[in-house]
Amino acid sequence: MRCLSCQSLSFKIICTQCQDELLKPSFYKRELSKDFFVYSFYKYAEVNELLNTKYEFYGDRVYNILASLSFAEFAKNFQYENSITAIAIDDHTRHDFSHTAILTRHLKSTYIIPKYDLLKVQNQIKYAGKNLEFRKKNKRNFIYKGEKHCQVILVDDIITTGSTLLEAKEILEKNNCEVLFALSISDANI
Ligand SMILES: [Zn+2]
Repeated sequence: MRCLSCQSLSFKIICTQCQDELLKPSFYKRELSKDFFVYSFYKYAEVNELLNTKYEFYGDRVYNILASLSFAEFAKNFQYENSITAIAIDDHTRHDFSHTAILTRHLKSTYIIPKYDLLKVQNQIKYAGKNLEFRKKNKRNFIYKGEKHCQVILVDDIITTGSTLLEAKEILEKNNCEVLFALSISDANI
């Protein structure tokens, strides 16, 4: 097959050279609300096309590579005083995989326990290209089915206005959970 990124022949869907050179993660930080930060690993332009593979049947292979280069490295270096839960934003599946569940799975460590199918949106309306006002009027209406009183890392693939993450944080807080921070592959503002 050919590397999705550079088109050279490769046994992997993204060749080793592209993984090493183009997909070396950085560490960006955005404050979404007071003292609530989302950390991301790539500039939007660097991974935009790769992230769009979530709509393709081979997207799970791309997400597994991106997550192993970024989320898994983050988890390796992350320590905390007790174990905490990682929860994917709306990990519904399409093409037999959930892209946010793949990201979350790569966070598994001594300190981080990934959990699935806990946070679902009831409103599947598309936010792409819509402004903040539209997003505020058309809320995601999350349902949370997990434990109460836990400490949580929220996981998503792209952050744009941040309204989805803030809404997810709100529903978790209503369930007496503490959202420590959020992780995203990419921040559309960077
Ligand atoms: Zn390549």
